[in-house]
Amino acid sequence: MIIKIADHAGFCGGVKRAVKIAEEAVSFKGDTYSLGPIVHNKQQTEALEKKGLQVLEDYKEQETGNIVIRSHGAAKCVVEDMENRGFNVIDATCPVLLKIYEKIKEKEEEYQIVIIGDPEHPEIIGIAGQLEQKPIIVNTKDEAEKIKNQEKLYIISQTTNRMEKFLELSDIIDRSNAYVLIDNTICNATRNRQQATEELSKDVEAMITIGGLNSSNTNKLYEITKKHCKNTFRIETVDDLSLQEVLKFNTIGITAGASTPDWIIEEVVNVMDNYSKDFMEQVEDSITKIYPKDIVKGRVLYVRDNEVAVDIGYRSDGLIKHDEISSDESVKPQDLFKPEQEIEVYVIKMDDGEGNVVLSTRRVEGLKNWENLVDAYNADETVEAQVVREVKGGLLATVKGINAFIPGSQVTTHYV
Ligand code: SF4
Repeated sequence: MIIKIADHAGFCGGVKRAVKIAEEAVSFKGDTYSLGPIVHNKQQTEALEKKGLQVLEDYKEQETGNIVIRSHGAAKCVVEDMENRGFNVIDATCPVLLKIYEKIKEKEEEYQIVIIGDPEHPEIIGIAGQLEQKPIIVNTKDEAEKIKNQEKLYIISQTTNRMEKFLELSDIIDRSNAYVLIDNTICNATRNRQQATEELSKDVEAMITIGGLNSSNTNKLYEITKKHCKNTFRIETVDDLSLQEVLKFNTIGITAGASTPDWIIEEVVNVMDNYSKDFMEQVEDSITKIYPKDIVKGRVLYVRDNEVAVDIGYRSDGLIKHDEISSDESVKPQDLFKPEQEIEVYVIKMDDGEGNVVLSTRRVEGLKNWENLVDAYNADETVEAQVVREVKGGLLATVKGINAFIPGSQVTTHYV
């Protein structure tokens, strides 16, 4: 199994920075809060809570304290209100967003601002909250089609939008309005991550997307994987992953949203890796280990005129060719074997060049005969021999299936 991690998976620069600022802020005097979770990731939020960061949905419920504005930013009036109430406001708004704030503030006198994005997303609420005017927010084709015959429009995007969606909606607006300035503000971190996810999705059998279920950028990555890969999995942590399902595939790609910490990605990779090793060991254990010259038990699979196939519990089946079936060449395979019969076979070699183990029953017979003969010799027994023919100096014979030579001097007690 090969696991490939998409380039740019996991925390983006803006989120990393916000987490670092929040971690520092908990050491400040007084209680430290964040306005909403710092990242859309439950596990990371819990980790920060353990360090002392309390998540506030409504800052008005608190008297004072330190309050961190997360990377998504916040409306200007909210920040001002918090300051007026005596909060120590620590701004961790992503620098990419701060630049967007500057741009739209510059343009709003001349243009109607249009934002392509989710109106409920805190980033969009934060962007809209920088303006004196009321921006138009569109998130669907229908909404885009309703924007017609406006004076001058300045279109920007939610930083985590899918490129395809932004281009499609901005194009619809552009076609129905005379003067449209389109500014693609999808951030580079998002573009790179989406592009790498698309490329990897085309290259593997299965894709796993890791990230908070409420993380919009992770959900967009998941949409990309579904478009380019037949087998996709969407998880928050390794606990959501069905290992049996995933490990059916030989090449597995992993991508993760901007709010997914590295340790969650590493956990998924490690668990998959260990499970796959355990699984392979179990498979190895379940396979009979065999070596040349071994005699092993097997089950006849089929019998043909020239060969017999045998399941020996090994990763490949074995074949007994006609000349290895019996020392009696006149015997037909069908006379000795039938399907499902349990037999003993001698391993000649592990591979006949076509992946079959080369087996013999003739040699099992020979070895057993030899053992019987040795036992008879050790017990000083008399054995019967069949004379085959006379040769110079004596007779050739077979004894218990073994070729033998009887010197002339041992044939009888008197001269012949
Ligand atoms: S996705 Fe881009 S804009 Fe959003 S926090 Fe990360 S770097 Fe900043």
